[in-house]
Amino acid sequence: MADILVVGAGPVGLTMASELARHGVRCRIIDKADKPLPYCRAIGVTPRTLELWETMGIAQEAIDAGLWLTGMRSFIAGRPPFDTLSNLSDLPYAGLGLPQYETERLLTRHLARQGITIERGVALDALQQDADGVAVTLNGQSQRFSHVIGCDGAHSAVRHALGIAFEGEAMPATFMLGDVHMAMDLPYGMALRAVRPREDAPPELFVAIPLPEPGRYRVSMIAPETLAAGATGDHGIQAEMKGPDLAALQAVANDLLPDPPTLSDLRWSSLFRISMRLAARYRDGRVFIAGDAAHIHPPTGGQGMNTGIQDACNLAWKLAAVLAGRAPAALLDSYEAERRPVGADVVARTLAASINFGREGGAKPDRLEDTQILVNYRDSAWVRDDGGAAGPQAGDRAPDASGLRRHGVGFPLRLFDVLRGTEPVLLVHGHAGALPRIAGLRVVVVSASAMEDRYGATMLHDAAGEFAAAYGDSAWLVRPDGYVAWRGPSADHPGLTDSLGRVFGLA
Ligand SMILES: Cc1cc2nc3c(=O)[nH]c(=O)nc-3n(C[C@H](O)[C@H](O)[C@H](O)COP(=O)(O)OP(=O)(O)OC[C@H]3O[C@@H](n4cnc5c(N)ncnc54)[C@H](O)[C@@H]3O)c2cc1C
Repeated sequence: MADILVVGAGPVGLTMASELARHGVRCRIIDKADKPLPYCRAIGVTPRTLELWETMGIAQEAIDAGLWLTGMRSFIAGRPPFDTLSNLSDLPYAGLGLPQYETERLLTRHLARQGITIERGVALDALQQDADGVAVTLNGQSQRFSHVIGCDGAHSAVRHALGIAFEGEAMPATFMLGDVHMAMDLPYGMALRAVRPREDAPPELFVAIPLPEPGRYRVSMIAPETLAAGATGDHGIQAEMKGPDLAALQAVANDLLPDPPTLSDLRWSSLFRISMRLAARYRDGRVFIAGDAAHIHPPTGGQGMNTGIQDACNLAWKLAAVLAGRAPAALLDSYEAERRPVGADVVARTLAASINFGREGGAKPDRLEDTQILVNYRDSAWVRDDGGAAGPQAGDRAPDASGLRRHGVGFPLRLFDVLRGTEPVLLVHGHAGALPRIAGLRVVVVSASAMEDRYGATMLHDAAGEFAAAYGDSAWLVRPDGYVAWRGPSADHPGLTDSLGRVFGLA
């Protein structure tokens, strides 16, 4: 019996299954659909997701398959167009454009490399749990698992079976999407939006996001009443309804753009609707929910899939550590405690940004917030901060630093290369004294001067001074998902021992 069942092979379920496998836990993953969906929903991949994909080993493939999103050309209310450039040069990655079907293809291939195949055409119909496990009905047949993770999208059967409220509301408008060729001379990676704001109503809009294939765009806009009539689904692609034809998409471009480009070669189209909802709980006993099963909101800022991928990365290492008997079972409480506030923030931010889309004032998508680099768990009861000179606090993402030299290695290293792995890492700056030797804990020492190798520790020389600039002079315990579990003035502080035991079951 596979112990864990992942329900849903969208980007979040695929990440969950891959991350569990990387942490040494095999699972089964099912999807009720016979084949992957052809629709391009998510395109924007955040810098933080690229960092996580780097850890998983698929960032390079994703970058090769995508294109960088360089900015947006805006035509607002008949005024002259203006360009907003995505200046993310101070971040590890820019925003990547990768159609969701490509993301799913890459993640599926990555999962297959780990020996796990999606069981397609298998639907979860019902679920009940007791003290020892979870009984589920798959295509009418009963089976038992130790844990179930519902990554089964906005209409999650897992969430329904648990009776978890999905509070929020639906937007009144119905939108239409199309994958088209657009004859317009836009710079590489530049998106386009044309907006005509209306008082007390959503703005009329036409948005074109570039796809990796030259000349192709995913266009979206509000659907006219004639097409929208009959759309009843409260969120997502209205798969049972006929999508708009090329003429319907062209009509909106003609109405809103001063020199409208010709749209051609429509590959697919669909209607979709948007809701803003957040699950009241992310966990019930042995069952968890993640991704759109837990939070849905407007696509403004490209946050949904990326937030779900981070849900999966947050939960996978914890579940693996608890199942292996290393970490205390209570660590699983930290999943909802850390990820639900992030979901709530994304729902609130994307709603505000979509209401103000194309308006002069009000909240806008935040360039830095939307990269998801700033997501932190400072308020989590599972991180501990005992002070430090500078650098990331407990709960923050541990940043990268380049130019690190290691004895015997003829090229500079990045801190991320050294941190990558499945164990927690004690990171110490400029310390030559006694260091803990604990099975399951890696120790990395970074110093301003070159050091001899030391048995049981990775000794690095901060030759470029980048580590000192990002971290200062303290000690950090970094979790396998790249967040700081503990910060303190030095490695012999008692707070480190407490965190190692409480979070990782290491003493
Ligand atoms: C127009 C549009 C644009 C978007 N743009 C972006 C963007 O740029 N960036 C971004 O981050 N996000 C974006 N999103 C949001 C993104 O598409 C979703 O957040 C993402 O698909 C969520 O992934 P998921 O794996 O949680 O759910 P899904 O992708 O919905 O996958 C759920 C899977 O579960 C399966 N399933 C459902 N029920 C069952 C069952 N009972 N048994 C077995 N399997 C089941 C389904 O078949 C499906 O394959 C956009 C969305 C839309 C509509």
